[in-house]
Amino acid sequence: MRLSRRLEKLPPYLFVEISRKIAEKRAQGIRVVSFAIGDPDLPTPPHILDALVEASRDPANHRYPETEGLPELRQAIARWYRRRFGVELDPDTEVLPLIGSKEGIGHVAFCLIDPGDIALVPDPGYPVYPMGTVLAGGEPYYLPLREENGFLPDLDEVPAEVARRAKVLWLNYPNNPTGAVADLDFFRRAVEFARRYDLAICHDGPYTEVALDGYRPPSFLQAEGAKEVGIEFHSLSKSYNMTGWRIGMAVGNAELIRALRDVKSNLDSGIPQAIQLMAIAALDGPQDCIDEHNRVYQRRRDRLVEALRSLGLRVNPSPASLYLWARVPEGETSVSYTTKLLEEAAVVVTPGVGYGPSGEGYIRLSLTLPDDDLEEGLRRLEAIAHGRPVRL
Ligand SMILES: *Cc1c(COP(=O)(O)O)cnc(C)c1O
Repeated sequence: MRLSRRLEKLPPYLFVEISRKIAEKRAQGIRVVSFAIGDPDLPTPPHILDALVEASRDPANHRYPETEGLPELRQAIARWYRRRFGVELDPDTEVLPLIGSKEGIGHVAFCLIDPGDIALVPDPGYPVYPMGTVLAGGEPYYLPLREENGFLPDLDEVPAEVARRAKVLWLNYPNNPTGAVADLDFFRRAVEFARRYDLAICHDGPYTEVALDGYRPPSFLQAEGAKEVGIEFHSLSKSYNMTGWRIGMAVGNAELIRALRDVKSNLDSGIPQAIQLMAIAALDGPQDCIDEHNRVYQRRRDRLVEALRSLGLRVNPSPASLYLWARVPEGETSVSYTTKLLEEAAVVVTPGVGYGPSGEGYIRLSLTLPDDDLEEGLRRLEAIAHGRPVRL
């Protein structure tokens, strides 16, 4: 058998050594506390589950769904965008439901990238942007997100010959892994950049509803001209604790939405209809669950920021997303510090280099661990901070 050459371009799994150490600790019966998982620990709200139970009993939902989703779901998505962002969308041409947004983020590369084309991707960033590009035969060009720049890419820094070869600019705010946010002024500048170089913008926005301190993140589509150059990926995963159900959406530019639908219609047969009905219940239903979840994250964030600062790490309280992005102490690398926390305290964090070369010097901590794990993790971090032995 000869596997495709494109597979050789996927990077090896970076954290083999760290994963081995975690498994070793667990095998010794040690309780490992993980801040590494970006998956809400809270359950899907009951009114959304009720929609699934009811839908599952209707034989109409036992059959193949359509690639483009139920018209009722596309309409619910358009209504939600109007209510939440004041953005108008045509449910038939500007909305496409996805099997989780990751699916669309990966597949849209096949709509934009031919062999040799460039995709501009944030560094650090969600690995699917560069890897989707590589699988489509293209080359990722990394745009460093620097702390002094509020973790926004400096678009003026992109060499003109790179920008001309680029077919797409990937953006993601509120940002994973840095927790940074962008305002409409930044999105406007991105639209101008896309016009100047005739490229598409794909904005990935699954965290617009995971916002703290009363902050309300904007949609990329609120920027003037955004719909002429790009699309936004959104998801029910983080807003409604629905990662396991797999449902998200792409919205915006009709030409790109059609292209993505055409690619997908050759690869998948849509989202199980009962799950589409859950999404309608989530989008049209009461939204107070979102504030409830965010209150939990805010409390966890504040506790964790305090503990990290007592350890001597520099960290800003993220205004949105599920993550804290902390600077490791002088003399440590993101991997050496991750290893130290694991060995001394059986606490797992994600080394920043896993999200790209500019992630060096940082670790990511997620707010999605149950409260008793969080308390145990904080207890251990505080022991290290005060030079006390960590009891495991
Ligand atoms: C969680 C996440 C997603 C994808 O979520 P789905 O569950 O596939 O909808 C996309 N982008 C980023 C940056 C994420 O963190």
